Amino acid sequence: MPKIASYDDVKANRIKRELPRGQGWRTNFLTYPEGTNVTEEPMGFLVEGNHERVIRPHYHENDQFQVIVSGGGVLGKHKLTIHAVHFSRAYTPYGPINFGADGLSFLTLRARKDPGAQYIPEAREKLTAVANRQPWQVTEAPDFTRAGDVSLRPFTQIKDERGLAAYSLSMKAGATTTAPDPAQTAGQHIVVTKGSLSYQGREYKGLAVAFVKPHEGAWQITAGPEGLEAIVLNYPRREAVAAANDAVIAKSPQHRVWQCMLCAFTYDESKGMPDEGVAAGTRWEDVPETWTCPDCSASKSDFQMEVVG
Ligand SMILES: [Zn+2]
Repeated sequence: MPKIASYDDVKANRIKRELPRGQGWRTNFLTYPEGTNVTEEPMGFLVEGNHERVIRPHYHENDQFQVIVSGGGVLGKHKLTIHAVHFSRAYTPYGPINFGADGLSFLTLRARKDPGAQYIPEAREKLTAVANRQPWQVTEAPDFTRAGDVSLRPFTQIKDERGLAAYSLSMKAGATTTAPDPAQTAGQHIVVTKGSLSYQGREYKGLAVAFVKPHEGAWQITAGPEGLEAIVLNYPRREAVAAANDAVIAKSPQHRVWQCMLCAFTYDESKGMPDEGVAAGTRWEDVPETWTCPDCSASKSDFQMEVVG
């Protein structure tokens, strides 16, 4: 049976955090059942901060979604707009997260328990010792445009061959639909951002967070009296990565490609980084030593040349 909690259910759990900079709060939505092996239980909590708050670059040992709930900010070079979804694969550093002028709140969601943030640079050696990492992160905004009673629109970038997927779900008041089946995933979070979801005779108003385990099947969702907007997030299976990932794309030796060993961001000499003031055709040696990875703030020494064909 899916777990679900709305902000009204959990707001009493809101706790202030002790931070080196700015003010911040955390509110747990989904908590672990007492006295059980909790490793395979989902996490879901709201992170809030004022404009002074900064979260340093770090990684986690598990796949993670973050959903912007209010305000805005910047994560590395990823702009955080309302309801945008950031996915970061396990062992992918991301950040820093700079909270915007109006502050920023986001949900952090994982399908299983995580031991906590591993900060860069302190945990850099630990990270690079991890075998078979597939670091990757992406940010994409939902599209709640509705045609008819129900619209379910897949995100175009948040997907992989192991079941990773995200959908924007928009429903008219009282409409019913079947959510995507989580059977081939590591579980599914559903975040109600607007309106409400009716379930077992109760109305769960947004902000609400639900989790459906893979064996629980596709959830029948009914929208409340004001309709509903929600984001459906399918976690990728944790089995070995498909061989397709191992394919090496042939590259011209005239133009080398350098990859961040921490987060997999790539620098292509043929393209440069015009946004960063690095012209197309700039050799790696000529990129300023002060330049840092746009996605995780790693330094140039954390990059390595990819195999060239
Ligand atoms: Zn990086």
